Amino acid sequence: MASVAICLVVVIALNSLHNPSPMNAAAAPILRIENLNKTFDDGFQALKNINLDIQKGEIIALLGPNGAGKTTLISIICGIVRPSSGRVTVAGFDIIKDFRQTRSMIGLVPQELTTDSFESVWDTIAFSRGLFGKAPDAAHLEKVLRALSLWDRKDSMIMKLSGGMKRRLLIAKALSHEPSILFLDEPTAGVDVNLRKDMWQIVAELKAAGVTIILTTHYIDEAEEIADRIGVINHGEMILVEEKSKLMSKMGKKQLLLDLCESVVTIPSSLSNYNLELSEDGNLITYTFDTQGDRTGITSLLDDLKLANIQFRDLNTTQSSLEDIFVNLVSESS
Ligand code: ADP
Ligand code: MG
Repeated sequence: MASVAICLVVVIALNSLHNPSPMNAAAAPILRIENLNKTFDDGFQALKNINLDIQKGEIIALLGPNGAGKTTLISIICGIVRPSSGRVTVAGFDIIKDFRQTRSMIGLVPQELTTDSFESVWDTIAFSRGLFGKAPDAAHLEKVLRALSLWDRKDSMIMKLSGGMKRRLLIAKALSHEPSILFLDEPTAGVDVNLRKDMWQIVAELKAAGVTIILTTHYIDEAEEIADRIGVINHGEMILVEEKSKLMSKMGKKQLLLDLCESVVTIPSSLSNYNLELSEDGNLITYTFDTQGDRTGITSLLDDLKLANIQFRDLNTTQSSLEDIFVNLVSESS
């Protein structure tokens, strides 16, 4: 998709941002979730006491394994699933009492593609806009379709579109009524690399235009790439919400790898204060340290190695990725 086209998304979003906040909600978060619980009819508890505030213009990624409760959470906010208890407000409006207001502020790009109809691209998005009580606006819809490289397919039947086009159509539908919050539920599941990158670009442009974006994903690199904040959900619980950069520095461990000139049998006791691991062949020492600590201890380790008469030919460092952090978190909470 041409970047020129992507830039158009910004124009659309800028044009479309209305200010739906009630007067007393100026400083309030655009989305507030309080003590939210969901137990399905079969007794399964899918969400357990979720609390979360989201500020206008934020991109938050909800990470979690399959079945964690991500889609359920989004479905509640969008009014598709009823909460069992708790409260959700959008710009101060209650999602149940003020359903019309909240729903009109929200765009949803659902996880499932249910787009096998005979309808045309154009009719679909025009209808979708109408559903939210918005007056017809052909110019807006044209801009949306152009931005998503769908303009030349506007008269095509949906069932004739490729998978990637159907995904983009879902986004076009979600943007048709000019929402200020956009939910993307696994937007890049099963899409090719190019479309993923395009999607990330679109998200970045929408953010720049002030749209708040909440996306779910189980691709950790996706969260790492585009999110400001990351929430981790596991078994219906929000086990962590943190700014991405803080999360990386807080939870991230670094490792120093020392390639020895001569193998050793054991690590000398003079080095027992360091968190060291010796490879099976005795050729590699791995030192794991906390990136948050004031000092890494590397300098003194190197001094002590010298005293112990251990020489190394090469030295490398590695840093844990968000993926490592996530896998640790989820396994700890299971
Ligand atoms: P995610 O989107 O994180 O993969 P979901 O929110 O779709 O997870 O599902 C969370 C859990 O709730 C899953 O175990 C799922 O099977 C269960 N679930 C979803 N919908 C229903 C339903 N209507 N009735 C009973 N259980 C459900
Ligand atoms: Mg889901």
